[in-house]
Amino acid sequence: MRLSQNVPGTAGSIGKGPRKRLVLRGVTVIDGTGAPPYGPADVVLEGGRISAIVSPGRNTDMTQAGQRTVAGADVWELPGHYVLPGLIDAHAHIAASEQGPDADYSYRLWLGHGITSVRETGCLGNGTAFTAREARRAAANEITAPRITPYAAFGAGRTEPFRTPRDAEAWVAEQAGLGAAGIKFFGAPPTIFRAALTEAGRLGLGSACHHASSELPRINALTTARWGLGSIEHGYGLPEAMFTDHRVQRFPSTYNYNNEHDRFAQLGRLWQETAGPGSRVWDDTLDELVSLGTALDPTFVIYTAARDAARARGREYHRDYSAPQSWEFYQPNPANHGSFFYNWGTEEEVAWKDNYRLWMAFVRDFHQRGGLLTTGSDAGFIYNLYGFGLVEEMELLREAGLHPLEIIQCATANGARLLGLEDTGTLEPGKTADLLVIAENPLANLKVLYGHGHLRMGDAGSLARVGGVRHTIKGGVVFDAVNLRSLVRDQVAAERERRAVPAPFTP
Ligand SMILES: [Zn+2]
Repeated sequence: MRLSQNVPGTAGSIGKGPRKRLVLRGVTVIDGTGAPPYGPADVVLEGGRISAIVSPGRNTDMTQAGQRTVAGADVWELPGHYVLPGLIDAHAHIAASEQGPDADYSYRLWLGHGITSVRETGCLGNGTAFTAREARRAAANEITAPRITPYAAFGAGRTEPFRTPRDAEAWVAEQAGLGAAGIKFFGAPPTIFRAALTEAGRLGLGSACHHASSELPRINALTTARWGLGSIEHGYGLPEAMFTDHRVQRFPSTYNYNNEHDRFAQLGRLWQETAGPGSRVWDDTLDELVSLGTALDPTFVIYTAARDAARARGREYHRDYSAPQSWEFYQPNPANHGSFFYNWGTEEEVAWKDNYRLWMAFVRDFHQRGGLLTTGSDAGFIYNLYGFGLVEEMELLREAGLHPLEIIQCATANGARLLGLEDTGTLEPGKTADLLVIAENPLANLKVLYGHGHLRMGDAGSLARVGGVRHTIKGGVVFDAVNLRSLVRDQVAAERERRAVPAPFTP
């Protein structure tokens, strides 16, 4: 099914600011560079920027620092709180009308999870022009939304395939004119693909590719990386670059690419066809990708339903946060992309568990060798929701073996680098004030970042939900993340009432 355009964001930002001068006092700073946390610190925000971070034992000139923190400032006393750079979802889609009531729905869930920037990889539901307009409104704080970096889907708006490389180049220039910051490829004949990619690079646009299976006999992820591709989305095309005695996956004779069950079931057997970790081709591929500077944006989270469908379907947040549109879209249906659970069993899930072990090993090795690893959620599909999906992606990087500090670096500084937003992504004086404030320590438990929090037993033996981002600050504009999440719950409840549908799992 095709996705269609949604209602744009509501005019009028409900954020406050940018504050003239705001001090976040007594916090612990996780700066996004991978460096260890430090505190207590005072993070001083002025006119949309971080003007100083003052912490005893770190600064030598405390007199000057002390002055900066007092004169005419709003001071928030935040002992026990953690401050991180705003999170970056490097593979995101603004809700199409089949996925949520309006664009605000996704924006609020993103900001409600401390996400201050998203890369819209393809503008598939809403189109390049809509998304570029929303990006401009978000940048000007005319709407309540994170920064949006729009990537146009290659060939969008065309009724015919590209006939010549020159056609493709002209289309790329046209998209840049519409406001695209990059191009999202799925595949194309090699001469066309290469020309478009080169033109994108020449115009200073980013590029990303979901390597479509139909193209893989001709083009794998290493081919496009050599042509200058910015980021490899998901995992497609990587195993194919490491086959040693065949070129095409060993599909069974009954395989049909248009059958979503076949497609996802065989995808779960893909990594097992490589020579595996430690093999020469594995190491050579990693080294080459790292030296080319190509980023990996695995979006592990979008496939976890394939290794445990029941768990994905039963995610705790669906009850309060999944809009009826998205819930319906997720349901098993051969006609919906990614809704392949009409006969999904043990054999498929076990294959996927093995697939993940190998894929995660590759991603960990890539990170270990210095590759640019980012976090993307691809939320809006396969029981995976905006905001929540990015936190789960961070948990999956933990499963892959990264340290929480490294994971936060992937979700902040690395994302900023990929999106060309180098003025954000770390907490350093002089940088744009894109950050989140949370009352729990995410290094101890990434689950505290979830909007529905983490269930924990207190000293008195009572269970309580803790966590959830408190404040999200974008360019110095302060958003109450708790309130944004409550607006989403209200919106979801109202939408269910309007359509007379129950919450998931109610009889
Ligand atoms: Zn996607």
